[in-house]
Amino acid sequence: MSELRHEFSWSVSRRGLAETCLRAYYHQYYLAWRGWERDAPAERAESYRLKNTTRLPMWAGDCLHQAIEQWFEQRAAGRTLGAEELVERALARFRGGYKQSRDEAAQWRRAPKRHTRLQEHHYAEACVDEPSGRAREYGGRFVERIQRAARWFCESSELAAVRAAPPEQWLACEQLGTIELFKTAIHAVPDFAYRDAGGVLWIHDWKSGSERPEHAFQLALYALYAEQRWGADPTGVRCVADYLEEGRAVEHRFDAEALEGVLGAVHASITALRELHFDAGGSDGEPARFPQLSVGASACATCAFRGPCGR
Ligand code: SF4
Repeated sequence: MSELRHEFSWSVSRRGLAETCLRAYYHQYYLAWRGWERDAPAERAESYRLKNTTRLPMWAGDCLHQAIEQWFEQRAAGRTLGAEELVERALARFRGGYKQSRDEAAQWRRAPKRHTRLQEHHYAEACVDEPSGRAREYGGRFVERIQRAARWFCESSELAAVRAAPPEQWLACEQLGTIELFKTAIHAVPDFAYRDAGGVLWIHDWKSGSERPEHAFQLALYALYAEQRWGADPTGVRCVADYLEEGRAVEHRFDAEALEGVLGAVHASITALRELHFDAGGSDGEPARFPQLSVGASACATCAFRGPCGR
Protein backbone atom coordinates (compact mmCIF):
# COMPACT_ATOMS: atom_id res chain seq x y z
CA MET A 1 0.00 0.00 0.00
CA SER A 2 1.40 3.43 -0.89
CA GLU A 3 2.39 5.79 1.92
CA LEU A 4 -0.31 8.38 2.73
CA ARG A 5 1.10 11.86 2.14
CA HIS A 6 0.08 15.07 3.82
CA GLU A 7 -0.39 17.39 0.86
CA PHE A 8 -1.77 20.88 0.60
CA SER A 9 -5.15 21.33 -1.03
CA TRP A 10 -7.68 24.14 -0.82
CA SER A 11 -11.43 24.50 -0.32
CA VAL A 12 -13.83 27.26 0.64
CA SER A 13 -14.28 25.71 4.09
CA ARG A 14 -10.51 25.52 4.58
CA ARG A 15 -10.22 29.22 3.82
CA GLY A 16 -13.17 29.92 6.12
CA LEU A 17 -11.64 28.12 9.09
CA ALA A 18 -8.24 29.81 8.59
CA GLU A 19 -9.98 33.18 8.52
CA THR A 20 -11.91 32.36 11.70
CA CYS A 21 -8.98 31.08 13.77
CA LEU A 22 -5.55 29.88 12.70
CA ARG A 23 -5.18 27.67 15.78
CA ALA A 24 -8.40 25.83 14.95
CA TYR A 25 -7.07 25.50 11.40
CA TYR A 26 -3.85 24.00 12.80
CA HIS A 27 -5.78 21.40 14.80
CA GLN A 28 -8.07 20.49 11.91
CA TYR A 29 -5.60 20.30 9.03
CA TYR A 30 -2.28 19.55 10.76
CA LEU A 31 -2.32 18.19 14.30
CA ALA A 32 -5.19 15.79 13.49
CA TRP A 33 -3.08 14.20 10.73
CA ARG A 34 -2.38 10.54 11.55
CA GLY A 35 -4.45 10.97 14.71
CA TRP A 36 -6.42 7.91 13.61
CA GLU A 37 -3.42 5.59 14.03
CA ARG A 38 -3.39 3.18 16.95
CA ASP A 39 -0.11 4.55 18.34
CA ALA A 40 -0.82 8.23 17.57
CA PRO A 41 0.48 10.72 20.18
CA ALA A 42 -2.33 11.75 22.57
CA GLU A 43 -2.64 15.33 21.27
CA ARG A 44 -2.91 14.15 17.66
CA ALA A 45 -5.52 11.55 18.59
CA GLU A 46 -7.47 14.23 20.46
CA SER A 47 -7.39 16.72 17.56
CA TYR A 48 -8.51 13.94 15.23
CA ARG A 49 -11.40 13.02 17.54
CA LEU A 50 -12.48 16.65 17.88
CA LYS A 51 -12.21 17.18 14.13
CA ASN A 52 -14.83 14.44 13.91
CA THR A 53 -17.37 16.19 16.10
CA THR A 54 -20.20 18.36 14.91
CA ARG A 55 -22.76 20.78 16.31
CA LEU A 56 -26.51 20.30 16.27
CA PRO A 57 -27.20 22.94 13.56
CA MET A 58 -24.61 21.26 11.31
CA TRP A 59 -25.92 17.82 12.16
CA ALA A 60 -29.46 18.89 11.23
CA GLY A 61 -28.15 20.25 7.90
CA ASP A 62 -26.23 17.05 7.30
CA CYS A 63 -29.33 14.89 7.93
CA LEU A 64 -31.34 17.02 5.54
CA HIS A 65 -28.64 16.82 2.87
CA GLN A 66 -28.51 13.06 3.18
CA ALA A 67 -32.29 12.73 2.95
CA ILE A 68 -32.30 14.92 -0.18
CA GLU A 69 -29.55 12.77 -1.65
CA GLN A 70 -31.81 9.77 -1.04
CA TRP A 71 -34.64 11.67 -2.73
CA PHE A 72 -32.48 11.85 -5.88
CA GLU A 73 -31.47 8.18 -5.60
CA GLN A 74 -35.12 7.19 -5.40
CA ARG A 75 -36.01 9.50 -8.27
CA ALA A 76 -33.29 7.86 -10.41
CA ALA A 77 -34.91 4.52 -9.54
CA GLY A 78 -38.30 5.80 -10.72
CA ARG A 79 -39.88 6.65 -7.37
CA THR A 80 -40.60 10.09 -5.92
CA LEU A 81 -40.43 10.53 -2.14
CA GLY A 82 -43.12 12.76 -0.67
CA ALA A 83 -42.44 15.53 1.84
CA GLU A 84 -43.48 13.49 4.87
CA GLU A 85 -41.24 10.60 3.90
CA LEU A 86 -38.34 13.00 3.42
CA VAL A 87 -39.04 14.53 6.85
CA GLU A 88 -39.21 11.08 8.40
CA ARG A 89 -35.87 9.99 6.92
CA ALA A 90 -34.09 13.18 7.97
CA LEU A 91 -35.56 13.11 11.48
CA ALA A 92 -34.77 9.43 12.05
CA ARG A 93 -31.10 10.13 11.38
CA PHE A 94 -31.17 13.38 13.35
CA ARG A 95 -32.63 11.74 16.46
CA GLY A 96 -30.43 8.65 16.14
CA GLY A 97 -27.32 10.81 15.96
CA TYR A 98 -28.42 12.86 18.97
CA LYS A 99 -28.91 9.72 21.08
CA GLN A 100 -25.64 8.23 19.91
CA SER A 101 -23.84 11.43 20.83
CA ARG A 102 -25.41 11.50 24.27
CA ASP A 103 -25.06 7.80 25.10
CA GLU A 104 -22.05 6.43 23.22
CA ALA A 105 -19.12 8.74 23.88
CA ALA A 106 -16.83 5.75 24.51
CA GLN A 107 -17.56 4.31 21.07
CA TRP A 108 -16.86 7.69 19.50
CA ARG A 109 -13.52 7.86 21.30
CA ARG A 110 -12.58 4.51 19.79
CA ALA A 111 -13.88 5.17 16.25
CA PRO A 112 -14.58 8.92 15.85
CA LYS A 113 -15.35 8.80 12.15
CA ARG A 114 -18.06 6.20 12.56
CA HIS A 115 -19.94 7.79 15.46
CA THR A 116 -21.82 11.04 15.89
CA ARG A 117 -20.56 13.20 18.72
CA LEU A 118 -21.99 16.65 19.29
CA GLN A 119 -19.79 19.35 20.75
CA GLU A 120 -22.77 20.36 22.86
CA HIS A 121 -22.54 16.98 24.67
CA HIS A 122 -18.77 16.82 24.65
CA TYR A 123 -18.48 20.16 26.41
CA ALA A 124 -21.63 19.68 28.53
CA GLU A 125 -23.26 22.86 27.21
CA ALA A 126 -26.37 24.10 29.01
CA CYS A 127 -28.46 23.87 25.81
CA VAL A 128 -28.44 20.04 26.02
CA ASP A 129 -29.36 19.84 29.70
CA GLU A 130 -32.27 17.40 29.79
CA PRO A 131 -33.70 17.75 33.35
CA SER A 132 -34.31 21.49 32.83
CA GLY A 133 -36.07 20.91 29.49
CA ARG A 134 -33.53 23.01 27.61
CA ALA A 135 -32.42 20.08 25.46
CA ARG A 136 -36.00 19.53 24.31
CA GLU A 137 -36.40 23.19 23.42
CA TYR A 138 -33.00 23.33 21.64
CA GLY A 139 -33.50 20.10 19.68
CA GLY A 140 -37.11 21.02 18.88
CA ARG A 141 -35.92 24.08 16.99
CA PHE A 142 -34.00 21.90 14.54
CA VAL A 143 -36.84 19.40 14.21
CA GLU A 144 -39.06 22.26 13.03
CA ARG A 145 -36.39 23.53 10.66
CA ILE A 146 -35.96 20.08 9.10
CA GLN A 147 -39.72 19.79 8.64
CA ARG A 148 -39.99 23.22 7.00
CA ALA A 149 -36.96 22.64 4.75
CA ALA A 150 -38.03 19.18 3.56
CA ARG A 151 -41.53 20.40 2.71
CA TRP A 152 -40.17 23.35 0.76
CA PHE A 153 -37.81 21.06 -1.14
CA CYS A 154 -40.68 18.75 -2.12
CA GLU A 155 -43.43 21.27 -2.73
CA SER A 156 -42.09 24.70 -3.68
CA SER A 157 -42.60 26.15 -7.15
CA GLU A 158 -39.01 27.49 -7.00
CA LEU A 159 -37.66 23.93 -7.09
CA ALA A 160 -40.20 22.50 -9.55
CA ALA A 161 -37.63 22.42 -12.39
CA VAL A 162 -35.11 20.60 -10.16
CA ARG A 163 -37.62 17.96 -9.18
CA ALA A 164 -38.75 17.54 -12.78
CA ALA A 165 -35.26 17.29 -14.33
CA PRO A 166 -34.87 13.78 -15.75
CA PRO A 167 -31.88 11.79 -14.39
CA GLU A 168 -30.15 11.77 -17.80
CA GLN A 169 -29.75 15.56 -17.42
CA TRP A 170 -28.07 15.32 -14.00
CA LEU A 171 -24.36 16.05 -13.73
CA ALA A 172 -23.64 15.75 -10.00
CA CYS A 173 -25.42 15.07 -6.75
CA GLU A 174 -23.39 15.56 -3.55
CA GLN A 175 -20.18 14.20 -5.08
CA LEU A 176 -16.83 15.44 -3.92
CA GLY A 177 -14.95 16.69 -6.96
CA THR A 178 -11.54 18.20 -7.49
CA ILE A 179 -10.31 20.78 -9.97
CA GLU A 180 -6.97 22.54 -10.17
CA LEU A 181 -6.32 26.24 -9.79
CA PHE A 182 -2.90 27.83 -9.29
CA LYS A 183 -1.31 24.34 -9.27
CA THR A 184 -3.42 23.43 -6.24
CA ALA A 185 -6.12 20.79 -5.88
CA ILE A 186 -9.42 22.51 -5.10
CA HIS A 187 -12.10 20.37 -3.49
CA ALA A 188 -15.78 21.14 -3.96
CA VAL A 189 -19.08 19.31 -3.41
CA PRO A 190 -21.85 20.87 -5.49
CA ASP A 191 -25.14 19.65 -4.03
CA PHE A 192 -26.93 19.24 -7.34
CA ALA A 193 -26.00 20.14 -10.92
CA TYR A 194 -27.88 19.50 -14.13
CA ARG A 195 -28.22 20.74 -17.69
CA ASP A 196 -31.73 21.77 -18.66
CA ALA A 197 -33.36 20.96 -22.00
CA GLY A 198 -32.07 24.25 -23.40
CA GLY A 199 -28.46 23.33 -22.50
CA VAL A 200 -28.20 25.75 -19.55
CA LEU A 201 -26.13 24.41 -16.67
CA TRP A 202 -27.67 24.88 -13.21
CA ILE A 203 -25.94 24.34 -9.88
CA HIS A 204 -28.01 24.25 -6.69
CA ASP A 205 -26.58 24.50 -3.20
CA TRP A 206 -28.85 23.54 -0.29
CA LYS A 207 -28.36 25.96 2.59
CA SER A 208 -29.55 25.23 6.11
CA GLY A 209 -28.87 28.61 7.65
CA SER A 210 -29.38 32.21 6.58
CA GLU A 211 -27.79 34.04 3.67
CA ARG A 212 -24.13 35.01 4.17
CA PRO A 213 -21.74 36.92 1.86
CA GLU A 214 -19.42 33.90 1.44
CA HIS A 215 -22.23 31.92 -0.20
CA ALA A 216 -21.87 33.97 -3.41
CA PHE A 217 -18.10 33.32 -3.32
CA GLN A 218 -18.71 29.60 -3.00
CA LEU A 219 -21.18 29.60 -5.90
CA ALA A 220 -18.75 31.53 -8.11
CA LEU A 221 -16.22 28.82 -7.41
CA TYR A 222 -18.79 26.24 -8.52
CA ALA A 223 -19.14 28.13 -11.81
CA LEU A 224 -15.35 27.75 -12.26
CA TYR A 225 -15.67 24.12 -11.24
CA ALA A 226 -18.32 23.66 -13.97
CA GLU A 227 -15.91 25.12 -16.50
CA GLN A 228 -13.23 22.53 -15.73
CA ARG A 229 -15.50 19.53 -15.08
CA TRP A 230 -18.14 19.96 -17.74
CA GLY A 231 -16.62 22.45 -20.19
CA ALA A 232 -19.24 25.11 -19.38
CA ASP A 233 -18.83 28.81 -19.98
CA PRO A 234 -18.69 29.94 -16.33
CA THR A 235 -20.43 33.23 -17.12
CA GLY A 236 -23.45 31.26 -18.36
CA VAL A 237 -23.77 28.94 -15.35
CA ARG A 238 -26.85 29.63 -13.22
CA CYS A 239 -25.97 29.14 -9.56
CA VAL A 240 -28.71 29.01 -6.95
CA ALA A 241 -28.41 29.15 -3.17
CA ASP A 242 -31.53 27.47 -1.79
CA TYR A 243 -32.30 28.63 1.73
CA LEU A 244 -34.40 25.60 2.56
CA GLU A 245 -35.62 26.62 6.01
CA GLU A 246 -36.55 30.11 4.84
CA GLY A 247 -38.12 28.80 1.61
CA ARG A 248 -36.09 31.11 -0.60
CA ALA A 249 -33.99 30.55 -3.73
CA VAL A 250 -31.37 33.19 -4.59
CA GLU A 251 -29.91 32.98 -8.09
CA HIS A 252 -26.42 34.24 -8.92
CA ARG A 253 -24.67 34.71 -12.24
CA PHE A 254 -21.07 35.82 -12.50
CA ASP A 255 -19.57 37.92 -15.28
CA ALA A 256 -15.90 37.74 -16.28
CA GLU A 257 -14.95 40.57 -13.92
CA ALA A 258 -16.62 38.95 -10.93
CA LEU A 259 -14.90 35.64 -11.70
CA GLU A 260 -11.54 37.42 -11.97
CA GLY A 261 -12.15 38.85 -8.51
CA VAL A 262 -12.94 35.39 -7.12
CA LEU A 263 -9.83 33.91 -8.73
CA GLY A 264 -7.79 36.72 -7.17
CA ALA A 265 -9.22 35.91 -3.73
CA VAL A 266 -8.55 32.18 -4.20
CA HIS A 267 -4.97 32.95 -5.25
CA ALA A 268 -4.41 35.22 -2.24
CA SER A 269 -5.76 32.59 0.14
CA ILE A 270 -3.70 29.78 -1.41
CA THR A 271 -0.55 31.93 -1.24
CA ALA A 272 -1.13 32.81 2.43
CA LEU A 273 -1.96 29.24 3.45
CA ARG A 274 0.95 27.77 1.50
CA GLU A 275 3.24 30.09 3.49
CA LEU A 276 2.03 28.37 6.64
CA HIS A 277 2.00 24.86 5.21
CA PHE A 278 4.33 22.16 6.52
CA ASP A 279 4.42 18.36 6.27
CA ALA A 280 2.44 17.24 9.30
CA GLY A 281 3.59 13.68 8.62
CA GLY A 282 7.12 14.72 9.61
CA SER A 283 6.60 17.12 12.52
CA ASP A 284 4.11 19.09 14.62
CA GLY A 285 5.32 22.33 13.01
CA GLU A 286 5.39 25.57 14.97
CA PRO A 287 2.07 26.11 16.73
CA ALA A 288 3.07 29.74 17.41
CA ARG A 289 2.63 30.42 13.68
CA PHE A 290 -1.05 29.56 14.18
CA PRO A 291 -2.09 31.98 16.94
CA GLN A 292 -5.11 31.55 19.16
CA LEU A 293 -7.84 34.18 19.24
CA SER A 294 -7.95 36.55 22.21
CA VAL A 295 -9.57 35.25 25.37
CA GLY A 296 -13.32 35.89 25.21
CA ALA A 297 -13.53 35.77 21.39
CA SER A 298 -17.02 34.71 20.37
CA ALA A 299 -15.77 31.98 17.97
CA CYS A 300 -14.29 30.04 20.93
CA ALA A 301 -17.75 29.41 22.40
CA THR A 302 -18.65 27.06 19.54
CA CYS A 303 -15.20 25.79 18.60
CA ALA A 304 -14.49 22.04 18.52
CA PHE A 305 -10.97 22.58 19.86
CA ARG A 306 -11.72 24.63 22.94
CA GLY A 307 -10.64 21.69 25.16
CA PRO A 308 -7.00 21.42 24.02
CA CYS A 309 -6.99 25.18 23.57
CA GLY A 310 -7.85 25.73 27.23
CA ARG A 311 -10.86 27.91 26.46
S1 SF4 B 1 -10.95 27.73 21.18
FE1 SF4 B 1 -10.79 29.76 20.23
S2 SF4 B 1 -8.60 30.16 20.07
FE2 SF4 B 1 -8.85 27.96 20.43
S3 SF4 B 1 -8.86 27.02 18.42
FE3 SF4 B 1 -10.95 27.42 18.98
S4 SF4 B 1 -11.47 29.44 18.14
FE4 SF4 B 1 -9.25 29.23 18.16
